[in-house]
Amino acid sequence: MAIEQWRLARVSSFEDLTDDTRRFFLEAIDGSVEFKPGQFITLDLPIHEKRIRRWRSYSLANAPNGNTMELVIKHVPGGAASRYFWEQVEPGTVVQYRGPQGTFVLPAEIVTDLCLIATNTGVAPFRSMLLDLAKRPRPHKHIFLVFGTRYKSGLLYRDDFERLQQELPGFEYHYTLSRESSPDYTGRRGYVHAIYEELFADLRPAHFFLCGWRNMIDEARHRLLQMGYTPRQIHVELYG
Ligand SMILES: Cc1cc2nc3c(=O)[nH]c(=O)nc-3n(C[C@H](O)[C@H](O)[C@H](O)COP(=O)(O)OP(=O)(O)OC[C@H]3O[C@@H](n4cnc5c(N)ncnc54)[C@H](O)[C@@H]3O)c2cc1C
Repeated sequence: MAIEQWRLARVSSFEDLTDDTRRFFLEAIDGSVEFKPGQFITLDLPIHEKRIRRWRSYSLANAPNGNTMELVIKHVPGGAASRYFWEQVEPGTVVQYRGPQGTFVLPAEIVTDLCLIATNTGVAPFRSMLLDLAKRPRPHKHIFLVFGTRYKSGLLYRDDFERLQQELPGFEYHYTLSRESSPDYTGRRGYVHAIYEELFADLRPAHFFLCGWRNMIDEARHRLLQMGYTPRQIHVELYG
């Protein structure tokens, strides 16, 4: 397989979503970006002398739309790319990227229910998939987004998902907060696992898409297998 070319994109703007999460809008300089919702790009950032230590991957959070790419990035304390994105990137900064690539995409024909499970910025590929389904409708069954974060302020893209509940037939948005202490919050607390275990307690045919960091993914995969779902029904995008 041919090694993909590096291409250039310009950061057009960025916006804080939470204290430690920022969305970045990039525009490919040399034309439109073809991708399947769920795919990611790899950036070659000026953060290390060795090329391989400069590469960081990010899922595309937008539906395919000309030359636009939206990234949603969590600031990791002490992280080299995090420092670069927070301290050096500004509108007009040009970055090198490769892709989009990856196989974490919805099936061509959606014949079972889908359960999309994410924590934090792991929600990025699911936003892309759901926006695309709303924009270019195709047959599907029920789709559940199960999202976990610590505090109410961390409900990334909440408005989008609430709107999609109205627009996308069969779509349900479920979230849970693991550390919210406000007594005003009356929603669900704890981790994502109890939610999909309840939603799929009847073990009906389904495909599960898991995205985020290792702790959540390992636990979710283990629990789904214990429930009786098979590895072929569990699709994973591991961020680290
Ligand atoms: C396919 C793919 C898609 C990805 N998509 C996204 C995305 O859409 N948004 C996004 O924010 N990240 C995404 N990531 C993760 C991203 O590539 C970087 O790993 C992340 O931005 C941290 O890079 P850094 O250079 O700031 O930290 P590094 O310098 O690489 O790491 C610093 C330290 O922090 C640890 N660490 C890294 N991330 C976390 C974390 N989230 N929580 C706790 N500890 C951590 C590392 O293990 C290391 O010990 C994706 C990764 C992959 C493989």
